[in-house]
Amino acid sequence: ASWPRTQGVEFADLQDILINTPDAEKAREWSKYYTSGPHLAGKNLSQAIWTKEKWQQFGIENTLIVDYDIYVNYPKGHRLALMQKTKKDTTDALAVGVDGGAWEVKYEASLEEDVLKEDGTSGLADRIPTFHGYSASGNVTAPYIYCNYGTFKDFEELQTANVSLSGKIALIKYGGIFRGLKVKRAQELGMVGAILYSDPGDDGKVTEHNGNTTYPDGPARNPSSVQRGSTQFLSFAPGDPTTPGYPSKPGVPRQPVDHAIPSIPSIPISYVDALPLLKALNGHGPKASAFNKYWQGGGLGYKGVEYNIGPSPSNLALNLVNEQEYVTTPMWNVIGIINGSVADEVVVLGNHRDAWIAGGAGDPNSGSAAFNEVIRGLGKALQAGWKPLRTIVLASWDGEEYGLLGSTEWVEEYLPWLKDATVAYLNVDVGTVGPDFKASAAPLLSKVLTEAVHLVQSPNQTIANQTVGDVWDHHISTMGSGSDFTAFQDFAGIPSLDIGFGFSRKGPVYHYHSNYDSFDWMERFGDPGFHYHATIAKIWGILAAKVVEAPLIPLNATDYGLGLIKYVDSVKEKAEKAEEAGLLLGSKSQFRSLDKATSRFLKASRSHDSLASDLMQKIADDDIPWWKWWEKVKLYYAIRRVNTKYKFLERQFLYAPGLDERPWFKHIVFAPGKWTGYAGATFPGIVEAIDEKDPEAMWKWIGIATGIVNGATNWLDKE
Ligand code: GLU
Ligand code: CA
Ligand code: ZN
Ligand code: ZN
Repeated sequence: ASWPRTQGVEFADLQDILINTPDAEKAREWSKYYTSGPHLAGKNLSQAIWTKEKWQQFGIENTLIVDYDIYVNYPKGHRLALMQKTKKDTTDALAVGVDGGAWEVKYEASLEEDVLKEDGTSGLADRIPTFHGYSASGNVTAPYIYCNYGTFKDFEELQTANVSLSGKIALIKYGGIFRGLKVKRAQELGMVGAILYSDPGDDGKVTEHNGNTTYPDGPARNPSSVQRGSTQFLSFAPGDPTTPGYPSKPGVPRQPVDHAIPSIPSIPISYVDALPLLKALNGHGPKASAFNKYWQGGGLGYKGVEYNIGPSPSNLALNLVNEQEYVTTPMWNVIGIINGSVADEVVVLGNHRDAWIAGGAGDPNSGSAAFNEVIRGLGKALQAGWKPLRTIVLASWDGEEYGLLGSTEWVEEYLPWLKDATVAYLNVDVGTVGPDFKASAAPLLSKVLTEAVHLVQSPNQTIANQTVGDVWDHHISTMGSGSDFTAFQDFAGIPSLDIGFGFSRKGPVYHYHSNYDSFDWMERFGDPGFHYHATIAKIWGILAAKVVEAPLIPLNATDYGLGLIKYVDSVKEKAEKAEEAGLLLGSKSQFRSLDKATSRFLKASRSHDSLASDLMQKIADDDIPWWKWWEKVKLYYAIRRVNTKYKFLERQFLYAPGLDERPWFKHIVFAPGKWTGYAGATFPGIVEAIDEKDPEAMWKWIGIATGIVNGATNWLDKE
């Protein structure tokens, strides 16, 4: 036949291969390899080469390493000490200094995670110190304040209560928002340093306080665990901070970085190291729980912490030292290509390879191990004679952890081709750290995602033959940020999704970015038997097969239309609340044009989807007689036309000048929340204008959104 179809194997056979190939034992083997030693960004060439060779052995001959020269930091030294003024000191000035004899060390933080004999990589001689990616070097001595989660709102509450922040060090709990934005806000408010700690109050039900033993003896958090991680200001632009919008190839001009990464020092600490600091605040300043309705303290009450805000009394101060070495150094993406018969329709699958620690069994290597199993399946299908319909690109990214470096630079480099050809990007970062299936996706992809998860058996069968879809809550989050889909979705306008099994609040605690995200933890607590590794590989493979092989690209425009209407409703609600709070926004008629645009778009989407299903039906009927060959040609061109419209539909939502103050973000519907980072904002331009109490900007963005949505409708409607 003359229309596009799977060649070489039947689609059902391809599907079988991709479901039956992923194997728990193999995944365990790949996990063991990837987690056996440090593979920090820019220091993992041997793993890049290994990955390339493995993929070639699996049958993806066209696999290469693509490198970039990227500006990053590596840790050199750190110190955190709680200093106490001795009695003999008569001056009040901190300037007397820590070495002046007048101050003595009350508590010296270890800044180290315990070496456990049950955890093989926790004691490696070359294990990676605790530090923050893109943190600033500095040596500060100052009083400190407990700042809750360090959200924009938390800091606002402190300001409203006239807590003086300037010149102080912020002691902040992890959680809620992206860590770099905590440091950013502290810096903007004149604070001189930030300490981020993991509070067990955010660990769900399985805590030491609730009677569980701690890792390695049990499933609760090991008290010495530290969450490393990037403090880049990611919602302002991911990628190499010196090359926003263009690839970090050797010799390119470099931009200043002050707007993109912190200038005040920060370090991450464990709750063991946080305890003496928190306790020293007991009795000083209001208690967090009494401070206002948003603050509740944390989970260390049973250790005697009262969670007072401070500031610390005048006889105490913190000395915070952070020493980082900044270099411009190569990073390596591994890129595999399987040519399809339609050259200008491309599907990209990606996962990052770099980790903060020697292990990284959950993040990212549960994804990397699963990826190898997907690719082994693709290789088997090729061997069976399969010729994919669309081109498949496989990517093992470097430098995700510092700020989505490898994926962003690659998208920036290949932008013209990617924009022209890419149908979808399918990301898996953490493949599994628990039993709960989690997904975020562009609305265009939510239908095919839902179909795929209903084709794969759940490892946990409470009823025989239960699929992952059957046990899933069916919640699909909007695309925010925090992983490698960001440049695809928000910069290039390529519909993307991100899937994996997350930890359950009732299950073992996942030691995110800590030494204990290790092979030993995974084997004992995270995924004993590695069945969830195999399962995520099956879902990913099936999903890829559907997007690559369906004659009609399986994007669903109607879901986009319905999504837009929902997002506008929530923006309107926000505007209404702002108006009730006294912000003069003008009348609600401002939204009428946008409402009209979204309902027009929904109508066009519905008729486009039904055109696609008509064509699908024609293909299935397969009843055009051979002598009516021109009918077949016409059908072929009709399919091409519908597919081209699907392919470029997400691109219609890009706005070339980008969002106000963060022009790298081009998508007018999806962006990471400016002050959340991970969680997405919908219609970010409008939302931020309301947050900033700027009616003119709101009108401007409603106008831009209306124009863009109308443009997308015209794109679908045009002959
Ligand atoms: N996934 C990493 C993290 O959450 C990197 C996120 C980013 O820098 O965008 O820390
Ligand atoms: Ca760049
Ligand atoms: Zn990751
Ligand atoms: Zn990570």
